[in-house]
Amino acid sequence: MDCIFCKIINNEIPCDKVLETENVIVFKDINPQAKVHLLVVSKMHIKNVNELNSDNSGIMADIFLAAKKAAEISNISESGYRTIINSGEDSGQEVDHIHLHILGGEKIGPLNYK
Ligand code: 5GP
Ligand code: ZN
Repeated sequence: MDCIFCKIINNEIPCDKVLETENVIVFKDINPQAKVHLLVVSKMHIKNVNELNSDNSGIMADIFLAAKKAAEISNISESGYRTIINSGEDSGQEVDHIHLHILGGEKIGPLNYK
């Protein structure tokens, strides 16, 4: 499968890794949209939220617990951060492998996307 995040997980493409657990990896976004911009990526290839089900949804707990730890490591727990998951075309999802964005390290703009 030609999936860039699967290639990162399989060490075929390098990344700036912050944290790795049994089920997820956290690394810096290559095109950061804030001073701190991390991606929490499931090691399992799941396309997006639409592909979650009762068998695989436990990954969301793993993703958020890793996000909490990555925020601590990056010293943004206290100052705050935003978490975002894009799913599908209207969201602008570019990589079809479920991931949580963590944005922080500075004031993040309001949610007035329109
Ligand atoms: P999406 O738009 O799918 O929610 O987010 C995909 C994110 O992955 C983008 O913010 C993009 O900058 C990031 N990205 C795409 N390719 C790579 C890569 O090869 N390495 C890293 N570290 N980030 C990537
Ligand atoms: Zn993948």
